[in-house]
This record gives sequence, structure tokens and C-alpha cells, in this order.
Amino acid sequence: MTATPLRPETLAVHAGWRADPTTGSVAVPIHQTTSYQFRDAEHAAALFALQESGNIYTRIMNPTTSVLEARVAALEGGVAALAVASGQAASALALQNLARAGDNVVSSTALYGGTWNLFANTLKDQGIEVRFVDPEDPENFRKATDSRTRAYYAETLPNPKLEVFPIAEVAAIGRAIGVPLIVDNTAAPLLCRPLDHGAAAVVYSLTKYMGGHGTSIGGMIVDGGNFDWAADPERQPLLNSPDPSYHGAVWTEAAKALGPVAYALRARVILLRDLGPALSPFNAFQLLQGIETVALRMERHCQNAQRVAERLAGHKAVTRVIHPSQQQGEARARADRYLKGGYGGLVGFELAGGVEAGRRFIDTLQLFYHVANIGDARSLAIHPASTTHSQLNEAEQAATGVTPGYVRLSIGLEHIDDILADLDQALAAASKG
Ligand code: PLP
Repeated sequence: MTATPLRPETLAVHAGWRADPTTGSVAVPIHQTTSYQFRDAEHAAALFALQESGNIYTRIMNPTTSVLEARVAALEGGVAALAVASGQAASALALQNLARAGDNVVSSTALYGGTWNLFANTLKDQGIEVRFVDPEDPENFRKATDSRTRAYYAETLPNPKLEVFPIAEVAAIGRAIGVPLIVDNTAAPLLCRPLDHGAAAVVYSLTKYMGGHGTSIGGMIVDGGNFDWAADPERQPLLNSPDPSYHGAVWTEAAKALGPVAYALRARVILLRDLGPALSPFNAFQLLQGIETVALRMERHCQNAQRVAERLAGHKAVTRVIHPSQQQGEARARADRYLKGGYGGLVGFELAGGVEAGRRFIDTLQLFYHVANIGDARSLAIHPASTTHSQLNEAEQAATGVTPGYVRLSIGLEHIDDILADLDQALAAASKG
């Protein structure tokens, strides 16, 4: 094509695929197969020994899924990516790839409730301590770091706090001491590329805006290829010491022939091999279909959400609107620095009537669906304190930005007048009491 790097809108449609070399198929075929015929015994042995790259078994790789991986890697400016069965699997593997029992990770408190649970309970049970810090001051990450800190973790546009994370500031603190920043970019595809700001890896729940239609659960880990994992072997032992489960391979060495992909390589051949959260090829196909329109959809999500935030801000029944367009000071400055093209599709708000008014509001909505998802083509609403964040105690909920009266909206692609009409009638019912 051209010498100019392709723009995100173009990559979303084209990256990783042209046409099937055998059939000419333009749509990416669904390779619904578990296994792949080896040419001969030597070929099989070479694949297993990582001397040659190729397909072995769909738990570890699949041609349909590979296109999805290449596409998301291109969109994020990464060098490699690993698709997994869900966003949760992506967050878990992203950290398990660096930290083992006795190690720790420093994470922002502004997190999706499921990630909070994973970090506070399941990783803890596995011996990995997650130290939660307030992201308002990036220095909190440095203060919580010790010699066993293997990674920093945060969400770009945290769901549901919606205060943009200081990516470059925290990435710089980590890079000076060998600690990579891993960023969950689920709520901000195309609006932000965390790798451009110094993050070492990006994780996604593709279930949300990337897939965009509420049909398929999936996740992704993108390796930025921009972090020197070998610089301080004691800081990153899992990538720098002989791996007994792979004939003593040292991943920073083994990856050399393939490029700066040690992080993605280990996640695939060790964690996906052993733990097994593979994405189904059918879901990979569905998610690719969604990604073809993600640029257009994000534009409309952002426009509609901004209008909703403005309408809510002017409503007498509403006491607080949570959306970057309504923020001031440092939070707004970060939103303007890191989000390009809009402030995302999520809007939170609180009603004067508190939790009871919130319940009435949700029960009166007609167009909006009452579901736990975000990033769907349809408009969605939920009360996080009693659902997505209900397993967190009150202090934990407050740290993630969830107050008892918080209502979260994920604004869809419908005509804005229809969205506003449904909100108006539900707000009227909620404020009547
Ligand atoms: N990260 C964020 C920001 C999310 O909002 C979610 C789900 O809501 C997840 C991760 C988990 O993704 P999944 O539901 O695909 O496992």
C-alpha cells in the first residue's frame, strides 16, 4: 500500500489480513479446528521446540484468532498480542506472567469491581500481593514499590470512576526502576494508546467497545515491545531465569529470533498452555467483525455520552455527574491529555433521592437495558453498588469510585433524542418518589 503508516480507522478494517491464500475469501475464515496436521515428525518436533513457528493446537494458537491478535496489536502500536477467553483472563495472565508467590504488584484503586476481586482475593490466595494506591498522586506508585514489585497496573478511563489515569507519569516512575506499567484500555479504544505514553503492555476486555455488540466475551494482552525486560534480571526473574517447564528456556533469550516479544511469548507458551483460557475461534471472528466498526462507533458513543452528561448536569433531580467533560483541575487536564476524539461512552450520576431514587430510575427505563455490560451498541444502565461492585466492602467501593447512589450509564448508538427522552421520563419518575 502506501509508505505512510495506516491510520487507526484503516487498521481496524485491514490489519492482519488481506485474503485467504487458498480460497480467496475476503472475510476472515473461522478455523473451527482443535489441531493442525504436521508435515512430518521433524516438523512436529521443530514446532514444539519453538525452532519453527506454526500452528500446534487451538488452546495455544489458531489462525482466526491470530488475525484478531495482529489487528489489536496494530491498533495499539504493539509488537505482539495474545487473545484470551475474557477480559478477566487477560488481567490475570498479564500479571501472572511476571509475578509469582511472594512477589507484589502495585495497582491503582480505580478499577472495575471484577478486577478488584481478582487482585484482592484470588491473586492474594496465589501468594501475589496487590498493593492498592490512589492514582491521584503518581508518586504513590513509587512509595509502594519494593524489590519484589514486578508490575504496576491501572485502567486508562477507569470503570466507573471515569478519572483518567496518569499513564506517562507512572510509566516513567516504573521504567526508571525496571517496573512495567500494564494498562487496561477497555473503556478507551482508539481514544488512547497507552503504549505511546510509556505503558509496557495493554490489556482489554474485548467484550465491550472492541466487540461492540454484546455477543461475545473475549480478552487481549498486547505486548508493547518497548520494555527492556533483560535490563534488570533480578527485577523480572520469570522472563530471565531458566524455565524448568520448557527445557530451561530463558524467555528474553528465546524470544530474540522473533523480536522484542518475550512477554507475549511466555504468556502464550506457558500460561495459555498450562491454564488454558483460550478464546474460541468463533468469538475471534465475532470480535473481528466488531472491530471493523470500532472507530465509527467510538465517535458516536462519545458524542451521545457528552450530550447525556450535559442533560444530566442541568437536571434538578441530579446532584452529581461523573464524566470527564464535567471534571475540572487535574482530572480534566488528564482527560484532555490522554483522550483524543472524545471522553468515552460511560456516564455516571447520582440522584438527590439516593439509592431508592436510583432503583426507581433504573426500573422505569424503557429503551436502556438493565445489564452488567458496557460498550454495547445499545444503551445500558446499572447500579454498581448492588451489582458489579457488590462484593467489595464500602471502603473498597469508595476507592473504586462507587458511592451508594451511583448509577452507571453506558451510552449506545441510538438517536440521541430517543436516548434523552428515555432518560427524561425515568428521571421524572425517579424524582416523584
Ligand atoms: N476490565 C474492565 C475495565 C471491565 O469493565 C471489565 C468487565 O466489565 C473487565 C475488565 C472484565 O472483562 P470480561 O467481562 O470480558 O471478563
